[in-house]
Amino acid sequence: MNFITDLDVKGKLVFLRVDFNVPLDDKGEIRDDTRIRASLPTIAWLLDRGARLVIASHLGRPKGKVDPAMSLKPAARRLAQLVPNKVLMAPDVIGDEVARLKRDLREGEALLLENVRFYKEEEKNDAEFARKLAEGVDIFVNDAFGSSHRAHASVVGITDFVPVKAAGYLMKKEVDYLKKAIHTPVKPYVAILGGAKVSDKIEIIESLIGKADHILIGGAMTYTFLKAQGLGVGKSLVEDDQIEVALVILDKARTNAVSFHLPQDHVLASAPEAGASVKVVETLPFPEDMLGVDIGPKTVSGYAAVIATAKTIFWNGPMGIFEIDAFAQGTIGIAKAVAASNAISIVGGGDSIAAVKKAGVKDKISHISTGGGASLEYIAYETLPGITALEK
Ligand code: ADP
Ligand code: MG
Repeated sequence: MNFITDLDVKGKLVFLRVDFNVPLDDKGEIRDDTRIRASLPTIAWLLDRGARLVIASHLGRPKGKVDPAMSLKPAARRLAQLVPNKVLMAPDVIGDEVARLKRDLREGEALLLENVRFYKEEEKNDAEFARKLAEGVDIFVNDAFGSSHRAHASVVGITDFVPVKAAGYLMKKEVDYLKKAIHTPVKPYVAILGGAKVSDKIEIIESLIGKADHILIGGAMTYTFLKAQGLGVGKSLVEDDQIEVALVILDKARTNAVSFHLPQDHVLASAPEAGASVKVVETLPFPEDMLGVDIGPKTVSGYAAVIATAKTIFWNGPMGIFEIDAFAQGTIGIAKAVAASNAISIVGGGDSIAAVKKAGVKDKISHISTGGGASLEYIAYETLPGITALEK
């Protein structure tokens, strides 16, 4: 993989893919600009050396349509405050007006394109769209580690149409760290997996079975695994089309050396809302009118005991709906257990980082990875589509 510092960028039109997928409040103001700041080393390096810089990102899930609420304009305003250089905002992603702005761009100036997901072709990795993105571009730089598990046009497709490709500082930092920690992990290696996006994550567990010594399951995934075993989980979030995958994983876990742990007790609530009635149960089925919102205290101490034996820990996905205080104890308990360990600890994912901050233990984690799905996929497969595309 090329790194930007290997390149001469002066006067070149550089297309930089970043992850400016920042949270916005209801007024459209940026709530947290961590992701923009995370790419500043790369942006500053390129601009200081006279690149004519085109910057691209997605924001939210506009599903292939222009949605002003998901415009990158606030990100352009913030970037302009953070760098001394001129920052222009493009009215679109491709098209004549954007082509003119690209052509007129001077050395040390930046042009932020509109949200690439305003075009449905982005997520389809459409070759014609990728070619248009690449028009006039001399160098492609990927600094969007958190998006590199997606084979999208601005991450993967574009690399077919640009002669020179390289990784930015953020991408390199993530890959260097994860590679070192995960390629030959110091054992015992404990993976903790939770969160909401079952279909995104469940398949990846399969490839972790051959690597990790312990897999600790929490979050919404729990209920798909329990239902797969024929157990009633009430109103809990279940992805029925993932039951097959869950069964394969349970089967594979039995015949491998890995210890596969499901929660022993559960916090149930009448609704996923603050103020809902709550109870802790150890037995199934759950009452029909309740749903699982967190792991219970017994599970926390059981998982903490496993975590205490670890030399390498990877964690992606909160153990419950931690945004609501009444359902946050499981996640906070696990965060404290990870923080107390002497292991190399990696926590990945936007919500997981927020959870570690909420528990007040962010400084006790060895590596905070900006990508959730991306870090999980990287530790399982040891590469990502966006990285492979940079290397070819
Ligand atoms: P990350 O951003 O760290 O990759 P995810 O986005 O996959 O993590 O998951 C975070 C979300 O999962 C949180 O919003 C949390 O409320 C939700 N979640 C966790 N447990 C449950 C549950 N039992 N039911 C519904 N949602 C859950
Ligand atoms: Mg998330």
